[in-house]
Amino acid sequence: MRLAVFEGHRVGVIEGDQLFDVTDAVEGAGPAWPPVYMNRLMANWEAAAPAIAARRRAVKGVPLSSVRLLAPNPCPVHVIAAPANYRKHIGEIGARSVSKGRTAEQQGFFMKATASLVGAGGAIELPKGSTRRFDHESELAVIIGRRARNVPRSEAMGYVFGYSCLIDVTMRIEPGVAEEERVTRKSFETFTPLGPWIVTADEVSDPHALRNRLWVNDEARQDANTRDMIVNIPALIELVSSVMTLNPGDVIASGTPEGVGPIVPGDSIRIGIQSVGEMTLPVTEAATFSPRRF
Ligand code: MN
Repeated sequence: MRLAVFEGHRVGVIEGDQLFDVTDAVEGAGPAWPPVYMNRLMANWEAAAPAIAARRRAVKGVPLSSVRLLAPNPCPVHVIAAPANYRKHIGEIGARSVSKGRTAEQQGFFMKATASLVGAGGAIELPKGSTRRFDHESELAVIIGRRARNVPRSEAMGYVFGYSCLIDVTMRIEPGVAEEERVTRKSFETFTPLGPWIVTADEVSDPHALRNRLWVNDEARQDANTRDMIVNIPALIELVSSVMTLNPGDVIASGTPEGVGPIVPGDSIRIGIQSVGEMTLPVTEAATFSPRRF
């Protein structure tokens, strides 16, 4: 099943180019803050899925193109990310990274702000007036379905709810000039496009055999396969759950392959992951200056 969230914090099931509005079957769905209904839906999935399926059968579809998609989980408790998880990418970042060639195996994971999420109907908004370099990173997002604490890799795939496409937008350091912490550089609002929907795990036969591609203005920038991850999905879940409790709805960005490059206002960024989906977001510049400039 493909689950999407659209304007007004409504929930849809996607089939082909149609969206079926199943909001009435999702407890708590709506714009009330905090919008945590998708976490609850995933936590209660076994009980909720039949009602979702029944609602899908009862309603008429609308063209997917007629709605504006939000992040398919607008408010996960955690957005976790793997650094340096593809060897060829580690080679290309060089001096613009503080990781000094260490992989996710040695570095562990980092966090992105939940507030940085944006959906397929949004835009990547760069800080107004910035002369810094901003990069795209094309990543498979793993969506957690059950509370996970100290889960060994041999059991970890049972904790996966599904998958989504994720762009980890990053402001690069300028060595010796500006070396903000990674969480600052990656947590600007709209710096984590997620979507266009969550596809449930049963529809992805092997998440470690997915072509992962990203284009800037229709020019191919990234084209890799999830089989080349250094710390694979069960090992990521083992790692993170050894430190903290993963919750239903949590998002793990599994790291970017090679081909990372700069984006500027006016660009159009398309991400496509095999068996998951594809979405395109424009890059814009914020309308107003932030009080602290970057
Ligand atoms: Mn990344």
